[in-house]
Amino acid sequence: MSILKWICEFDIPSWMFDLFGCKKFRPKLIHTKVCQASLLLPRKCCKNVIPAIFPEEELPTKLCDIHKSRVIKICLDTKKRANKWCPRTKLKKFCPDEIPPVCRVHKAPRVRVKICQDSKLLASPYCPINKVVWKTFLKGKEPLGYCDIHKKPSPAKLTIKDDKLYFLDGGQQKFIGVGVWRREALLLEIGQNGYTWDWCGDNYSLSWAENEFLKYELNYLRTDICNDPRLVREFCERMYKNRVVVELTLRDGDRKLGDIDAVIEATKDLPNIIYEVFNEMYSKEDVHEAVNLARRLRRQGLIVSGGAIGAGGEKWAEYARERGLYDIVSIIQVHRHWPIPGHEDNDWILKYKHFGKPIGRNEFFDRKKLGLSKTQFIFEKSIEHGAQLVNYYGFRMPGFGSKCGEDAEGNPYWKYLEIASKIRKALIEN
Ligand SMILES: [Zn+2]
Ligand SMILES: [Zn+2]
Ligand SMILES: [Zn+2]
Repeated sequence: MSILKWICEFDIPSWMFDLFGCKKFRPKLIHTKVCQASLLLPRKCCKNVIPAIFPEEELPTKLCDIHKSRVIKICLDTKKRANKWCPRTKLKKFCPDEIPPVCRVHKAPRVRVKICQDSKLLASPYCPINKVVWKTFLKGKEPLGYCDIHKKPSPAKLTIKDDKLYFLDGGQQKFIGVGVWRREALLLEIGQNGYTWDWCGDNYSLSWAENEFLKYELNYLRTDICNDPRLVREFCERMYKNRVVVELTLRDGDRKLGDIDAVIEATKDLPNIIYEVFNEMYSKEDVHEAVNLARRLRRQGLIVSGGAIGAGGEKWAEYARERGLYDIVSIIQVHRHWPIPGHEDNDWILKYKHFGKPIGRNEFFDRKKLGLSKTQFIFEKSIEHGAQLVNYYGFRMPGFGSKCGEDAEGNPYWKYLEIASKIRKALIEN
């Protein structure tokens, strides 16, 4: 008996255990293999299988519950786990740690649309370009309607009644803005040869200048023309959509600033254009040319501006008066003659009032004479004395000693936009 018990204590083979009836002395131990993670019977997917000894009654009967293989839908193109956008799939069995990541090639269809930031709806052609952004949506989640804030403007046409200039159903009577030395930029953008000035690249491109302008919600922009009538027209149309009056400067003294006839032909049907027949005048010939051009444009029913001479001097202003220029033009533009605090009677705006026409102020302060605060003063005084339009050449191409995006005095363009916008807002609020 005790010898049997002694033998049974050894790790004897199963048949001997049964033969000697060892069950009486201790539980039967079974050698088996289990999954290390679950300590259950290994499956195909169990990577770490270890030997184990169990009392017969405690022998595991269940298969590993951690490494159960799973049937997964696979993207046939990427061999990754399919998502609902994968076009071709099949079912495949995987061990749990071998399931591939989800396919990232096939995605929910998206659409990219232009959105108006004010209405959060699709941008219409009438949304100001600075409010329009591209946005991506899951297909079907994009807004369907068009902007209901910026609608097609009611027909607006520049008209002159008595001595006043009107725009937008007669609602607007004050035109505040800036001038842009645009011609050179246009020449550059269309890549004409012969242009030698250094240009500063995208940071201060013409598009940049226009976007900046529109941000300040001004309603008047004066600009040179160029030789490409299509570009000028596109620009004027864009400004019209933003309810901006455009004054196209055709000549500077004896210099044509572009193809005058082609530009007039391309823009004369637009309702927001003023043609400035000249900028500066320096000789009798300049005055004669201005008078002829003004007469020709007025005969076509166009709105023509011109007048006080500027850098050329008062001599030519006087000569132009003798030649009847102020009687011909629709708007008299006062240029480079500024009210001095306390001596505002000296302002040419007062001097030209008796012609009974709308008066504007075109300015360009070079030679470091004025600066920002005087600019504001001049604008405000001009309006106070009855000017309907004010602008300043705040954005120039480099050259004439000025840098990109600055005026001749080194003031950044946006400073003038800010001044103009402040004046405009004050006028709207009053
Ligand atoms: Zn396992
Ligand atoms: Zn896929
Ligand atoms: Zn809009």
